Amino acid sequence: MYNKHSSPHRGGSASRFSRPHSRPKSGGRFNPPTGGKRGGGNNSANRRRFGQHIDVSRFINKAVITEAVEHFVPEHKFTDFSIDNRLKKNILDKDYELPTPIQDKIIPHVLRGLDVVGIANTGTGKTAAFLIPLINKVIMDPRQRILVVVPTRELAIQIEDELRGFTTGLNIFGVCVVGGAPIGRQINALSRRHHFLIGTPGRLRDLIERKVINLSFYQSIVLDEADRMLDMGFIDEVRFLVAGMPAVHHTLFFSATMSREIETLIGAFLKEPARVSVKTGETSKQVDQDIVRIPSGQNKIDVLHNLLIKPGFDRVLIFGQTKFGVERLSRALKERGFAAESIHGDKNHGQRQKALKLFKDSHAKILVATDVAARGLDITRVSHVINYDLPSTYDDYVHRIGRTGRAGAKGFALTFVE
Ligand code: AMP
Repeated sequence: MYNKHSSPHRGGSASRFSRPHSRPKSGGRFNPPTGGKRGGGNNSANRRRFGQHIDVSRFINKAVITEAVEHFVPEHKFTDFSIDNRLKKNILDKDYELPTPIQDKIIPHVLRGLDVVGIANTGTGKTAAFLIPLINKVIMDPRQRILVVVPTRELAIQIEDELRGFTTGLNIFGVCVVGGAPIGRQINALSRRHHFLIGTPGRLRDLIERKVINLSFYQSIVLDEADRMLDMGFIDEVRFLVAGMPAVHHTLFFSATMSREIETLIGAFLKEPARVSVKTGETSKQVDQDIVRIPSGQNKIDVLHNLLIKPGFDRVLIFGQTKFGVERLSRALKERGFAAESIHGDKNHGQRQKALKLFKDSHAKILVATDVAARGLDITRVSHVINYDLPSTYDDYVHRIGRTGRAGAKGFALTFVE
């Protein structure tokens, strides 16, 4: 168990994507929720009650990082793919030297026009795995339009950013339509020429119902983080979007996890898809995980405070269970003099982006977040993940701690146990 935290050090000089990707052994729910949807019916009393049954030993694991990292050897180089030379140049300009496993395996299938299922999470390079071949499709035929459906605004914006990098000088454009941002501006943006439409399911449905978007112009659809869309209760919207596509269309489906429900969706939405599973970062191996027992009579926040002043706690992502709790904790930390920011569903889009930028640019060393808000975010160099509140499922735990220990570096995850 954690008591004295030794000064953490970054391990390994291994480059990004140099580790083998193998799937974490994430068991089922250890904490059966009362409702199906994320965020529904999970009050803190329930959580505490369920928490008693959590096997906290699953949160303890010493990271195994050695300098001798096994290198993934891709079958292809980017130059091997039959894609436009200008696109190849943009890829190289982004300093992508070699394809990641998911890119190596999926790009050839998509280029051939096959439907694909990618079992991969954030951090595997899945965004470029679908963007690169689809951008090429647009280069070959500028009438092509691509719909990219994602669970969160942040993920939508990240994809738009990636798209911008890959399409420099190509006259290919994207529009991003997400909930929580002014719809009028998005309606304007949609009237401009665009090839990629990236959006969250609710806002997309709204714009279709307002007849601002006509899905019959879209020949390809990407469903990104389908498992999370399911978790977040977006399934009706997703079905609505797929049903609105032309009868013949190209479908790319990504999910971090596989389940019976996901299989059902794959069966319903895709035609004989090629399947690629890159084992999603064996988080447990790269992340030094420990629990922090809160001594009775002691305040959790005091324990947290004492950790945050230790050396090495440079970029700390703290997870809380509720929007309210997250906001309250970030305010309390600010009052104690810490540069803390927060992201959760009660913040509007601009506020979330601002908080994220402050954290990414190291102006805030602490970001307090809910699971949903942090989902899919590509935040690099997080020194520590702290589970201030227990996650609801082991899967959530794996997602949370996957924010640290990336790019071949050792990470630290601490879980508070009351
Ligand atoms: P993703 O899993 O798509 O969120 O990507 C995670 C991060 O990896 C992003 O910052 C990408 O820009 C980066 N990335 C994706 N593919 C490559 C590659 N082939 N080489 C280097 N970095 C990459």
